[in-house]
Amino acid sequence: MTAARLDLSGIRRLYRNGEETIAALDGIDLTIEPGELVAIVGASGSGKSTLMNILGCLDKPDHGTYRVGGQDVAALDPNGLAYLRREHFGFVFQRYHLVAALTASANVELPGIYAGLSTDQRRSRAAGLLRRLGLADRLQSRPNQLSGGQQQRVAIARALMNGGGVILADEPTGALDSRSGETVLALLKELNAEGRTVVIITHDRAVAAHAHRVIEIADGVIQSDSRIPKEASVSPCQTDNTAPRLPRSVSLSGVGSAFSMSLRSMAAQKMRSALTMIGIVIGIASVVSVVGLGEGMKAESLAQMSDLGSSTLTVYRGKDFSDPNYDKITSLTVADSLALARQPYVESVTPETVITQKVRYASISTDAQVYGVAPSYFHTGGYSLEKGIGLMDRDMNEARANVVLSPVAATTLFKKADPLGKSIMIGNLKATVVGVLAERANSGRVVAVYLSYNALRERLTGAMPLGSIVVRIRDHIDTKSAERAIMHLLTRRHGLKDFFIYNQDEIRKSMMRMIGLFNVLITALAAIALVVGGVGVMNIMLISVTERTREIGLRMAVGARRQDIMMQFIIEALAVCFVGGAIGMATAFAIAGLAGALGLPLPILINGQAVALASVATLLIGLIFGYLPARNAARLDPVEALARE
Ligand code: ADP
Ligand code: MG
Repeated sequence: MTAARLDLSGIRRLYRNGEETIAALDGIDLTIEPGELVAIVGASGSGKSTLMNILGCLDKPDHGTYRVGGQDVAALDPNGLAYLRREHFGFVFQRYHLVAALTASANVELPGIYAGLSTDQRRSRAAGLLRRLGLADRLQSRPNQLSGGQQQRVAIARALMNGGGVILADEPTGALDSRSGETVLALLKELNAEGRTVVIITHDRAVAAHAHRVIEIADGVIQSDSRIPKEASVSPCQTDNTAPRLPRSVSLSGVGSAFSMSLRSMAAQKMRSALTMIGIVIGIASVVSVVGLGEGMKAESLAQMSDLGSSTLTVYRGKDFSDPNYDKITSLTVADSLALARQPYVESVTPETVITQKVRYASISTDAQVYGVAPSYFHTGGYSLEKGIGLMDRDMNEARANVVLSPVAATTLFKKADPLGKSIMIGNLKATVVGVLAERANSGRVVAVYLSYNALRERLTGAMPLGSIVVRIRDHIDTKSAERAIMHLLTRRHGLKDFFIYNQDEIRKSMMRMIGLFNVLITALAAIALVVGGVGVMNIMLISVTERTREIGLRMAVGARRQDIMMQFIIEALAVCFVGGAIGMATAFAIAGLAGALGLPLPILINGQAVALASVATLLIGLIFGYLPARNAARLDPVEALARE
C-alpha cells in the first residue's frame, strides 16, 4: 500500500439542470499529502460528495486537472480509472453499500476478485481484516444480520482489502448512533496512524474535530483550509499489509466466484429462477427430443426398407403396387431376367416370387415367406452364407427340393441344432437344407426360406406368374439411368409397359429428403421455443441489473472494470441457461424413455449430436440474451449507480 499524493487544480464539475448549469465544484485547488487525515466539511449541497467522487476517480472533472501520484486522470480510459480505484482508494459510504446477498466475508473479499487474488488469498485476507475490526465471529453473517456500526466496519474492512492507501469516507458516521460513530472514527484514525491518507467528508463539526486538517467548502468553493497541529507526527510509510497481486487478466477465480454467486442468487429466488428457466427447459427439451425424433424416424424407415442393397432395382408386374389387373399380367418372365442379365450395366439379376406357406421341422411349425429365386439371388441382394453351399445352378435347372434358411428360420425351426442336411416340410414339399444365411443388420424378424424358382413353381405352387425381378446394378452406374434402360428393354420385349420399377435408392433418398425437411421445420419450431426462453432470461437479467444497480456501482468503486461487470452478468445469464438446459436435456431423455416404455409411436433417438447441439444452443442463448443486460450493467456510471435508490 502506498498513499499517493492527490493534486487538484482548477477543478470544476458542472451539472446541467434544464436551462441552467450548476457548478457543483467551482475552481477547487487542493493538494492532499500522503498520510494526511483530512476532514471536508460543508452544508448539504455544498459539493462535498462531488469532490469525493472526483478524488476517488469515480467521476471526472469538466475542467482542471487532477493528478493521483503524478498521474493525470484525464488521460485515463474507464479501465485506467478502475485500475486507480483498485490500487489506491478504499471507499466508505454513509449507507455502507454492502451486497445484501453476500456474507460479511464475501463482501470484504469483493475487491480482491478484481485485483486477481485467488480464493484462498481473498478468504484469509478478509478473515484477517474482519478479525482486526472486531468482527471475527461475524464472518458468515449477512448484512441484515449486522448492526449499522458492524456493517460500517465490514465496509471499512472492504476498503482495506486491496491496500487502501487513501480511504475516502463520505459521511461514514452519518447513519450511526454516537457510540458506533466513535468506534468508526477511532478506526479511521488508527488507519491514518498506519500511514494511510484518510479523507472524511462530514457536515458534523464534531466529527471534523478529529482531523488534522479541516477544509471547509460552500457552493463548490473552498472557504477555508486549516491545519491543526498533530500531537505526534506520523510519517507516511509503506505498510506491510499490501495485498499480493497477480498479473491483471480475467482471473479464473473471478469467473468461479461470479458463477457460484449466480447459483446462490438462483437458489435464493427459487420461484423467479424456476419461472425464468421454464422457457429454456421447454426449448431445450423440445430441440433435443425433436432432433431425436428425426433421428429415430430415419433409423426406423431405413430398417423398414428391404434388405436389398442400395444399388438394386426391382421390376414388378402392373402399373404400381395397387394395379387391379395385377393378377392378369403374366408377361414378366424368367426370360426377361435372362435378357436383363446380358445388359452391360447389370451386375446380377434374379427372378423372385414370394408365397406364404407353413414350414415344419419335427414338431415345430411356423408360417414362412417362401421365396422362389435364382441362385444369383443371394449375390444380387448382398447376402452371405453362414453355413452350407447354398443354391446351385442345378437346383434351378433340375428343380431340386433344396432350401436355404434365413437365420430366423434356422433358429425358429432348429433352435441350436445344425439344420444342414436336415429335411423340412414346406407345405407338402419335403426339402433339404443346403445353407443358412448369415445375420445382418436390419434383417428383421421374418421367417424366410429360399427355394430355387423352378422348384417353387414345379413342386409347390404349380404354374403362377413371376412376382418380380431383382436387378443389381454395377457399381458406379447411376440407378436412375439404369432404371430408364431397363424400362426401355422390357417395354420393347412386352410390347407395352405393364410393369413398374421400384428404385429403392431413389425412394430412400426422397424419404430422407422429406424426413430432413420435416426435421428442419420442427427443429425451427423448437428453436422458437428456445428463443422465447432466451427472451425470458434477458427480461429477468434486465430486471436484475436494475435491482442491483447500486451493487454494480459498488463493484465499480472497488475496482471492477467494465468487462468484469459484463462478464459477471453474462455468467449469470449462462448459469440460468445451463441449469435450465440441463433440466431440459434430462426432460428430453425422460420423454424418450417414457415413449419407449409405453410403446408410443415416437421413435426418439437422442444421440451425441443432439446433446452437442443443445449444449451449443444453451451457450449461444446465454451469450446472446445475456449480452444486452450485461452491456447495460457495464455502461452504468459508477456515481449515478451508487446514488440509485
Ligand atoms: P453534498 O454532498 O455536499 O451534499 P453534492 O456534491 O452531492 O453535495 O452536490 C453538490 C451540488 O451538485 C448540489 O447542488 C446538487 O444538487 C448538485 N448535483 C449533485 N449531483 C448531481 C447530479 N447528478 N445532477 C445534477 N445536479 C447534481
Ligand atoms: Mg453528499
